Amino acid sequence: MKPHPYNPDLHKTGKATGGVTAYGAGSQTTRGKGRPSSKFGLGLPGHFLWTGLVLGIALLLCYIYFFPPVWAVILDGEVLGYVSQVEEVRKAVALLAESEASRIGAQVAPENSPSFVRTRPPQGAMLVTPETMAEVLSEKMEFRATGYVIRVDGQDVVALPSEEDARLVLSSLREQYVQSISGKSQATVEEVLIKENIEIVEKTVSTRMFRSKEDALRILVRGTDKIVTHIVQRGECLWTIAQANHMTVDDLRKANPQVKGDIIHEGDSLNLVVPDPYVTIQSKEKVVFTVSIPYATEVTYDDSLWPWQERVLVEGKNGQKLVTQEVVRENGQEVSRRTVDERILSYPVTRKVVRGSKQVPPMGSGQMAWPVKGRVTSYFGQRWGSFHSGIDIAAPAGTPVLAADNGMVSYRGWNGGYGRLVLIDHGNGTVTAYAHLSGYEVSVGDRVEKGQVIGYVGSSGNSTGPHLHFEVRVNGVAKNPLDYYK
Ligand SMILES: [Zn+2]
Repeated sequence: MKPHPYNPDLHKTGKATGGVTAYGAGSQTTRGKGRPSSKFGLGLPGHFLWTGLVLGIALLLCYIYFFPPVWAVILDGEVLGYVSQVEEVRKAVALLAESEASRIGAQVAPENSPSFVRTRPPQGAMLVTPETMAEVLSEKMEFRATGYVIRVDGQDVVALPSEEDARLVLSSLREQYVQSISGKSQATVEEVLIKENIEIVEKTVSTRMFRSKEDALRILVRGTDKIVTHIVQRGECLWTIAQANHMTVDDLRKANPQVKGDIIHEGDSLNLVVPDPYVTIQSKEKVVFTVSIPYATEVTYDDSLWPWQERVLVEGKNGQKLVTQEVVRENGQEVSRRTVDERILSYPVTRKVVRGSKQVPPMGSGQMAWPVKGRVTSYFGQRWGSFHSGIDIAAPAGTPVLAADNGMVSYRGWNGGYGRLVLIDHGNGTVTAYAHLSGYEVSVGDRVEKGQVIGYVGSSGNSTGPHLHFEVRVNGVAKNPLDYYK
């Protein structure tokens, strides 16, 4: 408890005693002097004089009772309020200076001091407690102190009590930055510099500029030492959080570089203050990594082999090179990357193959046989907005599929949407295709005769049910198979 708390009731009671006494005396006087006046009718002016004087004194005493003199607290020409006790306020001011000095760690001098004037409060003015007045003064009073100001491009940003502290802030600025980027890559940081012109200046400034080393660092890097966070609730996303805090999603991302993509979890802590740094820290890193060099393929042709035959003379092998790049980042964001050195660790080995170029002699009879017993369910040409390169013949799974003409098997195997596929080369550039098979009866290179069983109907590959997809290609171009059955 304070020794003299402001107590309006006590205050009133103290003055009330005097007031009552004055009133009592006044009324007695009125009665005492009034009586003789009424006795002698001619003393009329004296009667009025006395009554007026007594009333006047009574009014003055009432005024003193209801509006006792107080202290006006004035700062920079402005009346901050009225207090009944001034000692408490003087003490509070002294304490303010002391606590400001201990907060910043340097001697302080008041920039503006309050003055106290004994006065009567104007009509309607309220008295405030010394505690409230101390709070008002702590916000309005300015103190100055001599410290070391970190100046960025001519702008005073933050002050510290000693030059050593200011230097420590700047060195930890670099250290903290190097730590943050070395976590991002296995790069060697070669150079870290601050792009702005930084000075440490000894100067007398407002104590509002003074900060702890930690806060000073935060201000330089983020533009503010304000921290506002949001804990992610169930069902929230970046958009709803940005919306609720009057930010853009872009700003929310800037404030939270740790968030990758759109992934946030319940309970995550998001920063809501968008950084606006005073300093741009630029770093140059050297990144060294290996890259594989793909091998090339060299093809030679041999007309003693069929086109589907291939012989590998030399297996290909990828090479490797060591690449050194210089990465420039500003405040952690990559701004440029260039290759400064490339060294071949191993050369690639060219793959060498021999491919057959022997032409299949004309073998086809020119008249094709129907490849499977069944009904045409889909014709050649445009179908549902795409091109159908053959015809579909529906038949139960396992139905034998026959060679449409004499020829040589040039492909047998799985081929994407075709499923199990057989190609027969009939010579003269004509090839027939049999797709979605369930099994084969021939191998690549086999000579087949018209009507010979080459495989069985199935539903392999991109197929909705057992059927044969049958194509006729001439020099690689799909033709309408029905044109060959006229
Ligand atoms: Zn088809």
